[in-house]
Amino acid sequence: MQESSQVSKILIVDDVQLNLDLMKDILSDQEYQIATAINGKSALAKARAHKFDLILLDVVLPDIDGFEVCSILKSNPQTQDVPIIFLTAKKEKDSIVKGFQLGAVDYIPKPFSKEELIARVNLHLTLRKTQYELINSKEMAEAAAKAKAIFLANISHEIRTPMNGIIGMIDILKRTDLTDEQHEFIDIIGISGENLLMIINDVLDFSKIEAGQVTFELIQFRLADEITEVTKILRYKATQKGLTLSFEIEHNVPEFLIGDPLRLKQVLINLCNNAIKFTPEGFVRIQVSLVEFEGEKVRLFFEVQDTGIGISAENQLKLFKSFSQADASTTRKFGGTGLGLAISKNLVQLMNGNIGIISEEGKGAIFHFDCEFGLASQAFLTFQSQELEELIIPNKKLKILLAEDNVINQKVAILISKNSDIQSLLFLMVFRLLRHF
Ligand code: ADP
Repeated sequence: MQESSQVSKILIVDDVQLNLDLMKDILSDQEYQIATAINGKSALAKARAHKFDLILLDVVLPDIDGFEVCSILKSNPQTQDVPIIFLTAKKEKDSIVKGFQLGAVDYIPKPFSKEELIARVNLHLTLRKTQYELINSKEMAEAAAKAKAIFLANISHEIRTPMNGIIGMIDILKRTDLTDEQHEFIDIIGISGENLLMIINDVLDFSKIEAGQVTFELIQFRLADEITEVTKILRYKATQKGLTLSFEIEHNVPEFLIGDPLRLKQVLINLCNNAIKFTPEGFVRIQVSLVEFEGEKVRLFFEVQDTGIGISAENQLKLFKSFSQADASTTRKFGGTGLGLAISKNLVQLMNGNIGIISEEGKGAIFHFDCEFGLASQAFLTFQSQELEELIIPNKKLKILLAEDNVINQKVAILISKNSDIQSLLFLMVFRLLRHF
């Protein structure tokens, strides 16, 4: 936080005592606190010991000259922000220019007039004060924004925990004896719960990104497995709309990579989700191609193409900004927070890539991005899946340790584990954990 005291403190440096006394007299009348120094060494010592708002510095000094004093002050973080006005008898242009190059804010030619001295000092003290105020407001605004973002990111756990209870219990309730009407009601509650969770996840993810709290894992994975998982998650939605959802990975793309498959899937799911949402008929296709190998790394290019409503050139300019939707009617018709693309853009940038779009209104869209991965060896993954196969022995009774402090969620998990076909879901969770550690 910058200081902005009521009475401005000025240090006057001049090797002629008469000049010092004269300037001190003139400026003391203006109710400033004045300190003086008769040479360079004493000026540096005083500038380090006290915080001045302005320094009037003579160029010609007996020990260290004014230019050097200025350089030393500007190279010290403690004194570098203090404005310096040179006092110079030399009218040569070179000397004035050199002063500015060294960081001085102004110069006063000697002999000076009383009015000019006061006017220039007042001007620079006012500027200094305004600068303090601006810096303080900026620091306060940044601190407030950061505190808000950290708060939101930290409560993400608190918000998601009860949502897990709600959605889990809906699933369990669906498997009990219900009338058709009750089934319909519970389906609506389920869909609303899932939608709410998606919105909460978007808002929380976005605040995490803003707070700089997103972490990336570096783990080995098989690209085709991850993209298959994306299509599996979205297949139901696509089929319900009669859309074909497919993917193609070009043959020269390395099969095994090192990176964060969860973050990659998050971006692909966002883009495919939108593609499905904004496509009434036709297809949604994911395409992966190789850009180049960069030493131990590889850059890949991903495209998500759809045959949907497309986006006009004008509306494309609004994309990738937080809370922005191509046009206001979209929110009414399709819902959404306008955060999906902003989150995707940030995640792609954090993976050293860029995101973009090619589209024409009414003619579908291609969202594309590139990002960087490490190269993994097949040996590691084969070893890992052997380990997992040993664990997946059919009919073997699994012992699962559930680490959950929330009583409701404990109950949800116990109820789920009693249901045999959901046992595999719990198993899947263990599977995922193993893959990530
Ligand atoms: P939202 O949650 O509102 O979908 P996004 O950031 O994911 O937020 O998308 C912002 C806007 O971009 C959408 O509201 C929509 O207008 C437009 N958009 C995104 N993807 C597509 C697409 N594949 N086709 C047409 N419009 C799209």
